[in-house]
Amino acid sequence: MKLTAVVKLLPTEQQRDLLLKTLQRANAACDFASASAWEAKQFSQAGLHKLTYYPIRERCQLSAQMAVRCIGKVVDAYKRDKRTQRAFKPHGAIAYDSRILKWSLETQEVSIWTLAGRERIAFVCGAYHHQLLNGQRGETDLVYRKGKFFLYTTCEVEADSPMEVEDFLGVDLGVRNIATDSDGEIHSASHLLNVRHRYSRLRRKLQKKGTKSAKRLLKKRSLRESRFAKDVNHQISKHLVQKAQDSGRGIALEDLTHIRTRVTVQRRRRDDLHSWAFADLRVKFAYKAERAGIPVECIDARYTSQQCSCCGHTARSNRPNQSTFRCQSCGFVSHADWNAAVNIGRRAAVSPPYAVCVLGLNPATTASSRL
Ligand SMILES: [Zn+2]
Repeated sequence: MKLTAVVKLLPTEQQRDLLLKTLQRANAACDFASASAWEAKQFSQAGLHKLTYYPIRERCQLSAQMAVRCIGKVVDAYKRDKRTQRAFKPHGAIAYDSRILKWSLETQEVSIWTLAGRERIAFVCGAYHHQLLNGQRGETDLVYRKGKFFLYTTCEVEADSPMEVEDFLGVDLGVRNIATDSDGEIHSASHLLNVRHRYSRLRRKLQKKGTKSAKRLLKKRSLRESRFAKDVNHQISKHLVQKAQDSGRGIALEDLTHIRTRVTVQRRRRDDLHSWAFADLRVKFAYKAERAGIPVECIDARYTSQQCSCCGHTARSNRPNQSTFRCQSCGFVSHADWNAAVNIGRRAAVSPPYAVCVLGLNPATTASSRL
């Protein structure tokens, strides 16, 4: 499976200057290629290559491979959107491949192409990322952020061989409780929701203002908010995958295509649901579980919230309110999310006909398309 390692570069003053100029030049080349593409309505890699390769090399003095990468960046940008002419930030990330960037793990250095030729630059990273680098393959992005340079690189990691399981840890995803498992452990979102409400109040205020600085602040806030949500997702998925591994169980999640129709929430809370990064949580579950060799089953969760996990009786009236489950047939009383999580785990364990898909890693599955 593929994971991304991140390292921080430690350039000298001179190298720093060179890297910045290299990014500027490469992005200027992208802008040039983008204008040509737009004018000629030529958006394919081969077509744009023919049109701009030699002009880029002459105008921008880029190496052959760097020119190819720049054209590739422009082609990718138009793949996402052909409605307007694409422009590139002067310090936007640029992709390197093994012909213009070489890793040396023993000396903790990279040899990277710049406008002044190749430079050897030291890097630092944590133990986890250093371990990942042993499987470094393919592309690396040079990223400039807050005055520092980073490399994001693709690494191939061997996943543990899949574990044979009979039992599943069921996980119910929700708005108030982000995740409740079938052991009865609840990951509450109350702390998270408070933060989100604070942000959304601020958002409304800033949107009303509509000035340039307000927009800038808004963007900064929303980035911070999504980082926060991603970190929460990371903690939850890490904890639950560990728990499943320790107890020799797989993980059962509900098929998220149903989540929007299934969960009904007060209007005030609706914002939280739609903006909450369920898709991100799903991806994090998938790759952490795959790495640990834990099977993840994605099940049709219809009626899991109305069905009694004790006797199987299913009725809407079993669920008198958001948090309570009370079976009208056998009298079983439980926390509603816990009851649902037990049902989810059980449906995965009986497998067909309920298990509808096994989670795959698909980065294209974005929050907006899934919810
Ligand atoms: Zn019952």
